[in-house]
Amino acid sequence: MSQTYSYETEQDQPIERNPLRTLPIEVAERIAAGEVIERPVSVVKELVENALDAGASDIRVEVRGGGLRLLRVSDDGYGIPEDELERVWMRHTTSKIGSFEDLSRLQTLGFRGEALASIATVAEVTILSRAIETEVSGDGQQEQPALWITVRGGEITQRGRRARVHGTTVTVRDLFYNVPARLNFMRGSRTENGYVLQLMRRYAVGYPAVRFNLVIDEHMALQTSGSGALATTLAELYHLPLNEVLHPIDVSDGEHYTIHGYIGNRVLVQSNRQYVTVFINGRWVEVRSLQNALEQGYRGLLPKGKHPLLVLYLIVPPEEVDVNVHPAKTEVRLAHEEAVAAALSQAIRIVLERSPASPEAIQFPGPTLASQRRLPGPRRRGLHMAESAEGYRAEVALPGTKDVIVSLQPLAQLQQAVILAEAPDGSLYLVDQHRAHERVIYEHLRKTYVGVQNNEVMDAHLLLEPVIVEMKRYQAELLEQRLPMLRGLGIECERFGGRSFLIRSVPGGEGQEQLVAHMQELAEIAAEDSTDWEDHLLIGLACRSALRRGRELGNGEQRSLLKALAETTAPAVCPHGSPILLHYSRAFLIDKFDW
Ligand code: ADP
Ligand code: MG
Repeated sequence: MSQTYSYETEQDQPIERNPLRTLPIEVAERIAAGEVIERPVSVVKELVENALDAGASDIRVEVRGGGLRLLRVSDDGYGIPEDELERVWMRHTTSKIGSFEDLSRLQTLGFRGEALASIATVAEVTILSRAIETEVSGDGQQEQPALWITVRGGEITQRGRRARVHGTTVTVRDLFYNVPARLNFMRGSRTENGYVLQLMRRYAVGYPAVRFNLVIDEHMALQTSGSGALATTLAELYHLPLNEVLHPIDVSDGEHYTIHGYIGNRVLVQSNRQYVTVFINGRWVEVRSLQNALEQGYRGLLPKGKHPLLVLYLIVPPEEVDVNVHPAKTEVRLAHEEAVAAALSQAIRIVLERSPASPEAIQFPGPTLASQRRLPGPRRRGLHMAESAEGYRAEVALPGTKDVIVSLQPLAQLQQAVILAEAPDGSLYLVDQHRAHERVIYEHLRKTYVGVQNNEVMDAHLLLEPVIVEMKRYQAELLEQRLPMLRGLGIECERFGGRSFLIRSVPGGEGQEQLVAHMQELAEIAAEDSTDWEDHLLIGLACRSALRRGRELGNGEQRSLLKALAETTAPAVCPHGSPILLHYSRAFLIDKFDW
């Protein structure tokens, strides 16, 4: 039998050595998990990647208590078939590869079949999923609610069923409950939340066509629309108008690489590298040699120590990239690294050399309005919209106090989209007419809606021709329950047999004719399986009835739009979070014209 030895050393304490032994599997696993699951953000990363691998177009992440108390990632991807759900959390269990050779054809972010297993060894995990095929059940067939399982301490402790649209929700509770050393290593919630926010921004940028949503301790911290346009995503993330300051990059050698992306012009230069983002085949990576190439590309064209806003999507043949070199898969090796680096460097150079001098430095990132929005609690419906207005009011950092807007004199309309207006102090304001009107209508709807809760009479506009909308089965059920609430908004809607609904009226006010063409879309929002459906619907209604860009406005119309805008609680941001006003101060003019 082996025994413990004690060795005398130079130090005060003797060193003890235990005999060699193989760790119990459960101890070994907990240690291995630490390599992948370093902190809460690692869990979010793995779960978001699983959602992306499942083809999700809508990914919602919720974090409580710095992620140690609860982390939840919910997607609308293809889901997990029922007969597999009980095994997905086991080690080396994956649907993504079957052999080592498959690695060279990898199209997915995951492949090791270890993430869920690792998370399950250091936390309690609940997986709820519904596979996409099960939803298209034949007529008359009863829909089965989705299956869920809870895993704790290496075994399934609970299981059950509940309703769910196709997709997967993974909830992770009590992270590191059995790894005290790791817990001690965690910094405060703020820091951990910060990591999560940064990661989510990165994925939002990497996947502009996916709608991302991050809620931290019941506050909306990030929200993108999944428009598919990177410039829009960046504007949503940073609350800045970026379309004109981003330049596209598109290069390819037709064989080893294709590079798409955007680089911000000089206005956007930053003092750290945080806004330089590179994706290889959809995977966010850090590749030192590429990093150097990038810096070479902009060195000399930007002030020293400054970095551009840069987002690059590099596509290479899967067999020319080795993704299996890092536990968290954030490093890769490229077969033709040098050629790619040279191409990158040159692409950046070309753009920056043509980038005009900045009119005025843009504060970057912009005010984080969204993070200030308080979300409705489950029992506080009907109240929350008034509260979110409070959030906006407190946080509007762009110019636009009521007094200033009231006193604006419209001068002209630019591209039939932007009102140019002079302030009494001689400064210039640019006002986006569509967004301004959207804000006005949104607040009007919100007010009347809150009014309806107090039994006030709603103003509705009867449609000459009722509109028929077709819902999916689960949507039809939700919509049916919400009909009284819709009535409260002036939307008279009734079930028309099966999954069809008849809409007879829309909210009164301006722009109702425009709404008719969008009834299907709006009905789908009203049937959203989410607690913010009411706010989404109000935003949708406002957006669809607001003045379009391209509408000519007379001076009187411009004036009354500005007046109405001044009356709103957040005249500087549209309900989606994009800016309404741009301000060119007098000081700016004096400075730039050298008066
Ligand atoms: P990997 O992603 O490397 O395959 P994971 O442990 O992350 O390993 O996931 C194991 C398996 O569980 C996946 O291969 C996939 O089949 C399934 N899975 C996990 N998350 C999801 C999800 N959000 N949607 C659909 N399937 C999922
Ligand atoms: Mg995975």
